[in-house]
Amino acid sequence: LAMSKKAAFYDELKANAARMSSPGKGLLAADESTGTIGKRFADISVENNETNRRDYRELLFTTKEDWGKYVSGVILFEETLYQKSADGKPFVDILNEKGVLIGIKLDKGVVPLDGTNGETTVQGLDGLGTRCADYYKQGARFSKWRAVYKIAPGCPSELSNQCNAHGLARYAAISQENGIVPIVEPELLMDGDHDLETCAKATQTVLFNVFKTLHEHGVIMEGMVLKPSMVMPGQSCKQSYTPQQIAKATVEVLSRTVPPAVPGIFFLSGGQGEEQITINLNEVNKIGNELKAPWSLSFSFGRAFQASALRAWKGSKENVPAAQEAFMKRAKDNSLAVLGKYQGGSGSGDMSLFEKDYKY
Ligand code: 13P
Repeated sequence: LAMSKKAAFYDELKANAARMSSPGKGLLAADESTGTIGKRFADISVENNETNRRDYRELLFTTKEDWGKYVSGVILFEETLYQKSADGKPFVDILNEKGVLIGIKLDKGVVPLDGTNGETTVQGLDGLGTRCADYYKQGARFSKWRAVYKIAPGCPSELSNQCNAHGLARYAAISQENGIVPIVEPELLMDGDHDLETCAKATQTVLFNVFKTLHEHGVIMEGMVLKPSMVMPGQSCKQSYTPQQIAKATVEVLSRTVPPAVPGIFFLSGGQGEEQITINLNEVNKIGNELKAPWSLSFSFGRAFQASALRAWKGSKENVPAAQEAFMKRAKDNSLAVLGKYQGGSGSGDMSLFEKDYKY
């Protein structure tokens, strides 16, 4: 049997996945597609054009304080991977100097799965090998693919489980063949009135199917990381749960489904508020520490990392320092939560970041 292409990259994949999962560090998801960043900008009345997108990402990346102590990697949208700062410095150079690894969003969004109750699958596999090779040349060392699952009676369906696990596994294998660490992201949406137990069961089935399929495709566990949703009650669930209950349910499902060879688990924020998710992440790590969890339990937040920075910025130059301060605050607090040492009280707690049927 010929040596697989990914085997040639084994050491590099393993080293980079371990580096992403360094103690106390997490990921910044700044890979909003042009449409999604447009929604963020609309909230603060900023026009969605290339210059404003550049200015905003530059603001984050050029924060003077050493945010690379708290963030091991940044996920970028393709446009950003090739962009330069206003004074002409490539963003990849700025990020490399901060010591953070560069990631690239590879999925091309979701499309409906015909015949289901509003479920979706992901597109973007065609030509993916060539794209990976190009992005590697440009400096990308990890990637992301977001699959979306709906919780409702009969959902996630068998078909949704099969299609989405297949997409994630093919994507992960192709990334590794090109020396790129895949972030495998199966997101169960918070939409619905289901309870915590329902979400736990659905998440366990999804993760079981995902890892089974990853193995079938020969994906190297040491050279990938997982980006799951926390096990949460639905957005409109009548019952309320404590962060401890959420954390316990989350760690339980992960311990049943994620091999110890996987170095890191990075939660998406999924519509949870900044303070809420930092507290939940802290509780997850307290339980993880007690159980001596084999993986890093960390963050890969989009909305819950950037919401207060965006609000502070509002598109004007004089607000850049305040926005950078807000960005640093989330970086530090989430890093503390990864260590199980967050004391609470810093994020904007009242702010809901939930969006119905979220498209990224
Ligand atoms: P949120 O943290 O805003 O859910 O987004 C993270 C992400 O990268 C979605 O793919």
